[in-house]
Amino acid sequence: MIHQPILLLVDDEPSNIEMLAAMLEDEYELRFAVTGQDALAAIKEMPKPDLILLDVMLPDMNGYAICERIKEDPITADIPIIFVTSLGDPEQEEKGFAVGGADYIVKPCRALSIKARIRNQLEMKRTRELLHRLAITDGLTNLANRRHFDEALKQETQRLQRQGGQLSLVLIDVDFFKRFNDCYGHPEGDECLRRIASVISAELRRPADLTARIGGEEFACLLPETTLAGAYVVAERIRQTVLSLAMPHQTSSTSPYVTVSVGIATSSGIDSNHLYQRADTQLYMAKTSGRNRVVQDAALI
Ligand SMILES: [Mg+2]
Repeated sequence: MIHQPILLLVDDEPSNIEMLAAMLEDEYELRFAVTGQDALAAIKEMPKPDLILLDVMLPDMNGYAICERIKEDPITADIPIIFVTSLGDPEQEEKGFAVGGADYIVKPCRALSIKARIRNQLEMKRTRELLHRLAITDGLTNLANRRHFDEALKQETQRLQRQGGQLSLVLIDVDFFKRFNDCYGHPEGDECLRRIASVISAELRRPADLTARIGGEEFACLLPETTLAGAYVVAERIRQTVLSLAMPHQTSSTSPYVTVSVGIATSSGIDSNHLYQRADTQLYMAKTSGRNRVVQDAALI
């Protein structure tokens, strides 16, 4: 069964809640809150609501303040909020939009109109999410793309500088890939990259790990809370699994099969801005020392 969108209805008047619930319960999973504090607690419940219908006049907080709080928090900022209120004057409506409301409905609500407005907001939210996913995904492999990787690397290094811990970066490059494409053609080359991407994703299962395709035949794994030794184990497994696929590569000077070279660096936050260059240097060492190997940066900085 398809999961029904979750709506959070916030209103201090039980009769309003009952009326909205009667209109919406067939199409949506409903949650309720009767105060501002209830509402702020309810949006933290997982899974997050897909949309909020928010009364403006509540006993403990007004709806505009609640809306601002929800929009300030990056975790909840993307939830559309429709104000449902008896305050019909234009200034109130402007205020609703100014604090980040998506729509503004004046009571008494007509069922058809409120349903259509909810559907519109949910449709726009789905479109935004789809566009966002496309913008950060590599179309060939479905891994994260370079843009997503750069952003994640920046965020993780900042987090490391604040909180400490260890962050490892694994860079993986397919050996003699240009020769592979020249020999077998681009469709085979694409298939080779997809198979390697599957190997990499299968090895990295923790939700915080990020796997990305960051160049033509170059992949990256960003591993928070991972020591150099831990990253080495992962990298070595990826290298061996790619080799064990035994994808023929007759123009490789290293092996009759497709192989990868891997460079690793780990940072404890002191100089995490250079993490990428350090891992890249190790990848270069792996290339120049014979390929089909993992080389790690011994220094932890
Ligand atoms: Mg009220």
